[in-house]
Amino acid sequence: MRRLRIIVAAVALALVEAIIPIAVMLYFSWTLAVKNEQNRLALFADRAITRANISFSEAANTLRIIAASKFQPCSADHIAQMRILTINSPVVEEIGYFENRMLKCTSWGETDERVAQAHVDYTTAGGVDVTVRIRPAVSQGNHMMGLQYGPYNVLVNPVRFVDVVVDKSIRLAIFGQNDALIGELNAPDPTLTASILAEPRNGIDDENLFAVAQQDGWTAIAVEPRAEILVNLKREQMLLLPAGAFIAAFIIGIVIWFSRKRLSPLGELTIAVQKREFVVHYQPIVELKTGICVGAEALVRWRRPDGSLVRPDLFIPLAEESGLIMAITDQVLDVVIAELGKLLVDDRSLHIAINLCAADIKSGRILPVIQKALASTGIRTEQIWLEATERGFMDISAARETIEQARASGHSVAIDDFGTGYSSLQYLQELPLDALKIDKSFIDVIGKDTATSSVTSHIIDMAKSLKLFTVAEGIESQDQADYLNARDVDFGQGWLFSKALPASEFVAFYRRSKEKFGAGPAVIQRAIA
Ligand code: C2E
Ligand code: MG
Ligand code: MG
Repeated sequence: MRRLRIIVAAVALALVEAIIPIAVMLYFSWTLAVKNEQNRLALFADRAITRANISFSEAANTLRIIAASKFQPCSADHIAQMRILTINSPVVEEIGYFENRMLKCTSWGETDERVAQAHVDYTTAGGVDVTVRIRPAVSQGNHMMGLQYGPYNVLVNPVRFVDVVVDKSIRLAIFGQNDALIGELNAPDPTLTASILAEPRNGIDDENLFAVAQQDGWTAIAVEPRAEILVNLKREQMLLLPAGAFIAAFIIGIVIWFSRKRLSPLGELTIAVQKREFVVHYQPIVELKTGICVGAEALVRWRRPDGSLVRPDLFIPLAEESGLIMAITDQVLDVVIAELGKLLVDDRSLHIAINLCAADIKSGRILPVIQKALASTGIRTEQIWLEATERGFMDISAARETIEQARASGHSVAIDDFGTGYSSLQYLQELPLDALKIDKSFIDVIGKDTATSSVTSHIIDMAKSLKLFTVAEGIESQDQADYLNARDVDFGQGWLFSKALPASEFVAFYRRSKEKFGAGPAVIQRAIA
């Protein structure tokens, strides 16, 4: 269940995490493409203004030269000078001379037509009058722009003001003072240019992208269809999408790594500790002589979220290795107090044995923890037995100190799984123990004619001579119980009596045993003595 949840969550997270960088990159590539294209348009608009400035100065310069002419107006020399200036100027199409505001001659010669000086649209700072649209009186050609200075005017083709090389898709419009349209290239939409002129800005609308440049009284607008961005967009995407894909892959990698970590046995056990997923079962310990239940061993189980119970030998080694075992021991202690506290207070002869890990035996950390947990519960320290395996005795002096302290505060301490390690005998001699739990492997061989079976009676004798309680583990048959009882083994534990039970079932077992065999012997007192 949890696995599935983690996998589903990880996949969902990975998908979201993968989409975000790619979406961000798509967004960036779009905004970058728009920005780049706008910069390009702004550059064209700038160039148009530069071009317009050059053309204008050129025309104004021609005007000033002719205005300074010393020739008799409309004489052959005068007309010849106007013609040479026109030919030499790349922008001026025609020069005209006015007398009494009427055209008298042009660079083409004398004129008979009565042409009045045009109205002025605006006057530049240099004193040149500008007429935006003039139909040439002499050539009658396309509309021209007229510049007047003194009695002269020059006609300039408006195309000269937007004479820049641009892509076909780009439309240009250039305006002079008073928003007078001076020239256009590629026929920009007048409504659009009017709206941009009203509020000069770079921007984008549903169909077009546009940019504006303003300088020296000129305003140039460059417009381009939106579709042109796509070319740019593709280039940006080629650059940015691989980066987005790389980031996405990196994030997915992290998510997978993280979820694998969570899915790893250690990851799962860590979560189990955080969520306090441990339950405790109690295996009754009975006095072999009478059959009375004198207590129980607390055996931890891991209840997974799907309800399944995991046996301790499947997770205790990992818990020991990772150090999680200490938190588990503390949880077992809390559960024991919560579930059996009342029973322990009601029957002082009853004890619960708790399995300690090697690290706790070495450090003694657990003792104050128990002390604190028992405080104000009414349970006596004498009612909590501590079981330790040989692994906890490696550092024998540290183990001795912990055991001494434990006994001083009232606990009984048992060596668990006795006989399965290498140095059991040495530990028996050097450690101040209360009880010896004979490992199940020595009980299994009872009645069988094997080399090990004789060891069982030696272990019992040794324990007796050291004045230790003996507890036989894993008794499954009456014959084993009878054998052990005949050799004065004090207590027994095993499926013959009961498997490890949930708290309520253990309490029921204890009550039945009490009804059947009467009150328990004062075992605790014997232990203290
Ligand atoms: P242990 O402390 O020697 O516990 C006795 C084990 O023998 C228990 O297995 C118990 O269910 C099993 N057993 C008892 N009688 C019989 C029987 O008649 N036949 C058979 N076949 N088995 C019997 P369990 O509960 O699986 O525990 C296994 C080991 O896990 C324990 O061995 C102990 O070393 C460890 N363990 C259990 N709970 C804890 C705990 O809270 N803390 C620590 N540190 N270790 C624990
Ligand atoms: Mg044990
Ligand atoms: Mg054992």
